[in-house]
Amino acid sequence: MSIQKIVKLLTDSGISVNEAKQEVKMLLKHFCNYSEKDAILGYKLTEEQIEIVEEKAKERVANRTPIQYIIGEAYFMGEYFKVTPDVLIPRDETEILVQKAIDIIQENDIKNVLDIGTGSGCIACTIANKTNAVVLGVDISSDALRVALDNVTKLGINNRAVFRKSDLFSKIREDEQFDMIISNPPYIPLGTNLEPEVTHEPKIALYAEENGLQFYRKIVLESPKFLKPEGWLLFELGIGESSYVKAFMDEYFEDVKIIKDLAGIDRVIYGKAVK
Ligand code: GLN
Repeated sequence: MSIQKIVKLLTDSGISVNEAKQEVKMLLKHFCNYSEKDAILGYKLTEEQIEIVEEKAKERVANRTPIQYIIGEAYFMGEYFKVTPDVLIPRDETEILVQKAIDIIQENDIKNVLDIGTGSGCIACTIANKTNAVVLGVDISSDALRVALDNVTKLGINNRAVFRKSDLFSKIREDEQFDMIISNPPYIPLGTNLEPEVTHEPKIALYAEENGLQFYRKIVLESPKFLKPEGWLLFELGIGESSYVKAFMDEYFEDVKIIKDLAGIDRVIYGKAVK
């Protein structure tokens, strides 16, 4: 099979041409250590290399498994994070949340951050890596925490991003006061139909009761106890949820603001705890 045929294998299964080309590049890089530069320089792929890519592309189309689970890593804000089907694959939208957190941390010289529902640890690790803050990431899933621990080790920042098994705040003590709480919680309303790729991701990381609002409500309600005066709360938002989450936050937080993503969707909300 040729590389063109492998691209066609992907597009025939409903993947767009651009996406398919991108994915073949990812497979070549990951499994054959063959980069675009090698292609430009005219290095030829061996039969075996093409066979590996073909096999992985077949695996990709058989069940529409996300490419990140096949290669076992996902790119997020300049780093490659280990991902397995136990964790959500980091999304581009989440960069808006993390960038806002980084800006606030730097402007206010913030020291400690709590990341609720850390999953792969992509948020906790990126903040710890790019700021002076120490981040505690918590998750209810031991399998997710194993992945987060591998990521923090990979980045070599074990003492700056630390992890703990906790169902939301259940294992956080009230004397552990944070400057910032951040979360990209599960926010998809139960029963929503999802793209085939998304059905491979952990349900526990995707779905929330109360029309997707369950975790926003709980975290907004509990976070004031764990935040220093004027501490910050930041969330990623699901589509159509901003007005509800803003109403929760307005009760306990000041200056609640919303940031839109590139598609014009309200994607991030943040506010400051009342003094
Ligand atoms: N915090 C992780 C992320 O943003 C996991 C989020 C989740 O599983 N809901 O990717």
